[in-house]
Amino acid sequence: MKAAVLTAPGRIETIDDWPEPACGPHDVVVDVEGVGLCGSDLAVFHGRRLPPEMPWVMGHEGFGRITAVGSDVRDRSVGQSVVIEPNYACLKCADCLTGLTSACPHRAIVGLNAPGVLAERVALPTHFAHPVPDGLTGADLAAVEPYTVARAAVRRSGVTAADRCLVVGAGAQGLLVCLILSRLRIHPVVTEPHPLRLARAERLGATPDDGRTGFTYVFETSGHEAALHPAANRTAPGATVVLIGLNHHQLPFTTDDVVRRQLVLRGSMIYDHPGDFTTAIAELSQARPGAVVEARFPLHQAQQAFAGAAERAGKTWISIGDAEGSGRA
Ligand SMILES: [Zn+2]
Ligand SMILES: [Zn+2]
Repeated sequence: MKAAVLTAPGRIETIDDWPEPACGPHDVVVDVEGVGLCGSDLAVFHGRRLPPEMPWVMGHEGFGRITAVGSDVRDRSVGQSVVIEPNYACLKCADCLTGLTSACPHRAIVGLNAPGVLAERVALPTHFAHPVPDGLTGADLAAVEPYTVARAAVRRSGVTAADRCLVVGAGAQGLLVCLILSRLRIHPVVTEPHPLRLARAERLGATPDDGRTGFTYVFETSGHEAALHPAANRTAPGATVVLIGLNHHQLPFTTDDVVRRQLVLRGSMIYDHPGDFTTAIAELSQARPGAVVEARFPLHQAQQAFAGAAERAGKTWISIGDAEGSGRA
């Protein structure tokens, strides 16, 4: 079958002799129709994160249709349209048993420590293939996983309609936070240097930064530590700073900053199984996260899709099989 594989940093090849997946008794096989690209995929593509081996199948934000079910599977059926929850927690360890599957030390992280989904077919544990309603576009389905990341950050933050929010960064994650907050009638202010991304955030209900202060929440999605300190300096006393973007630099804070302002720092890592995905999916028909998507490429143009993704004003996805095509999403 066809798959897009990383053969060296910066180099993806679409090949047609990748082995078919094996379907275990508790697995389903999904005919992949599309895969969204996000920052962690680009980190692998550009060589900032090393995959366990090469050639390596990329991608984790997949959706498609079930074409086979394992012998012990009772609650999924062939033909169902599904999105993939691409972090397969063990569901048995202490963290999983408390509901914090995002912290599972045994988690299979699709595309990073387990093979990705940029292939014609993939096998996965049944309960990580979530049925989705009809009537959604490929762009909506390609954005479900990052929508769920953003939705989990908003859930964990405890933000309410009375709060004043600043969103730092309007990449896909920042745009999705803007979309979710706007749906909660909390219209955030957004800081973003890229004019087209800023314009997209405005269409999703955000206001461009006008220098105001007194925010009770900051959602940091850019991962640029230089953006964090100025944002934190614009908060009201007792504000919560939610950290979603990742980097490996020291935080640009002193304890004085945190103590005097009585800041709450809240990290938010992906989502917890299964509630965050099922909640997100129940909202999809209203939320339509495809609004953050900019471009679509067919599988054989995976190289171009990855190479230009960081510069596009919205999210990129790759379509596979019948859905193949390119152009605007
Ligand atoms: Zn993602
Ligand atoms: Zn676990």
